[in-house]
Amino acid sequence: MALPPLAPETRNLIDGALCDASNGNTFDNVNPATGETLGVAADGTKDDMLRAIEAARRAFDETDWSLDHDFRKKCLHQLYEGLLEEKEQLRSIVVQEAGAPLSLTSYMHVDDPIEMMKYWADLAASYEYETRMKDVPFLGRDQGRLLRREAAGVVGAITPWNVPLYLNIAKIGPILASGCTTVLKPAPDTPWSATHIGKIVVEKTDIPAGVLNIVASADHLTGEILSSDPRIDVVTFTGSTATGRRIMECAAPTVKNVFLELGGKSANIVLDDVDLAAVLPMATMTCVHGGQGCAITTRLLVPRSRYDEAKQILKTAFEGWSYGDPQNPANLQGPQVSKRQQERVLGYIEKGKEEGATCLVGGGVPEGDLGEKGAFVQPTLFVDVDPDSTIAQEEIFGPVLCVIPYEDDDDAVRIANNSPYGLSGAIQTGDIQRGVDMARRIRTGTISVAGAQWFHVDTPFGGYKQSGVGRENGVMGFEEFLETKVIAIPAEAEVR
Ligand code: NAD
Repeated sequence: MALPPLAPETRNLIDGALCDASNGNTFDNVNPATGETLGVAADGTKDDMLRAIEAARRAFDETDWSLDHDFRKKCLHQLYEGLLEEKEQLRSIVVQEAGAPLSLTSYMHVDDPIEMMKYWADLAASYEYETRMKDVPFLGRDQGRLLRREAAGVVGAITPWNVPLYLNIAKIGPILASGCTTVLKPAPDTPWSATHIGKIVVEKTDIPAGVLNIVASADHLTGEILSSDPRIDVVTFTGSTATGRRIMECAAPTVKNVFLELGGKSANIVLDDVDLAAVLPMATMTCVHGGQGCAITTRLLVPRSRYDEAKQILKTAFEGWSYGDPQNPANLQGPQVSKRQQERVLGYIEKGKEEGATCLVGGGVPEGDLGEKGAFVQPTLFVDVDPDSTIAQEEIFGPVLCVIPYEDDDDAVRIANNSPYGLSGAIQTGDIQRGVDMARRIRTGTISVAGAQWFHVDTPFGGYKQSGVGRENGVMGFEEFLETKVIAIPAEAEVR
């Protein structure tokens, strides 16, 4: 599968127009596989952000975008068709600016999120926005009540770089379907996965000016305006827990609804009834896309009774794992997204060694251009990891697996729950009932038993504890962008 030459939209979308930054500045977009500059993106300023918020506010308050469900459905179907037409360009962008492995773009990086837009388009019109509740007596007479769900208003949407097209669509799909208007602020590492959507909106849809604004910026603080500006009603954020905390703080003075999808440190528990040789090689999937996935299982819990056998199988699997050029379909692991992230991951690897874990495979950068010019990190296998140590507790966001032995099922549950996070997880067993019983004891938002997968556009996804607030995807994700109103009417009245 050859990628088409890059032809990205590099301008921001503000109030229906594609525009350069107000001061004309741009910033470089770098390919993390090679270190080469791919091109530039408009470096949105504070003024650009304020203008985008103003446009979104006006589009919400002064158009019937929030009320015309069929029009929204039509517009979002146009957006779906436009994304389909630009699919190969988007693939080229995601592979080159995010370092996403080409073979993964058929799934979560490109094809899946485009298909998701169809779900949001249909939900815009099929959702039951108003229902009548059962009449109840009060003050001696029956009272009728209409239960109404309405678009919550203007949404500030902030996304990270790891699965950029997916995350941008997972935000704007339900936001626009629900009738809200929005300003999307993508991560500076992956601007074009957002700005290119702006071009599609302008050229291929009837989405009114101001409904969707996209402001890329090199400055993280341009995004911070979205969490403090009083004209914003809801902030939805995907990214690190540290930034999530900051967004909550900034949103507090104006009491915004805050919806956060944050980090994870998910456990993959291997029960003692499985064929280790069949199951454990799959643990190399921790390294997929350089381990840059919030729901990736990064702690592997192995029964102590079979620990030596497990270590040997894992060592062989990690040594045989293929990684490198993301455009080579054989590689499921490309680079970290930037030199900064490469350094961060290497810092954690050093910390792991210092704290006494044994690094069985990897532990550094590959030789030559991959490690020097590119932002690659070797697939890294740590064993004998203390469950309380830094590498077992903090999110590394790199190709690093921490193997932890456990004594029995209760001990495995205790270790799995010994985390500030609660985003995902997995249990490997041949006994599904035993696996489900254990899954019910783990404090996490999603969990797989016996290799089954939960990911789908209608699966609510989100975290317990410091992994977040609220749920993305599905009807629950859509309802994050709705307010609830109750209208009392005389019980005998009929209304349309
Ligand atoms: P990050 O928190 O550094 O940045 C995310 C976004 O927030 C970027 O657009 C950035 O510019 C912006 N930002 C930074 N500081 C800000 C501030 N003060 N106010 C407003 N916006 C600000 O995260 P990252 O390093 O880009 O992404 C990796 C993190 O994202 C990981 O922790 C990962 O687990 C998490 N993530 C979570 C999910 C999920 O659904 N739970 C999905 C993907 C990634």
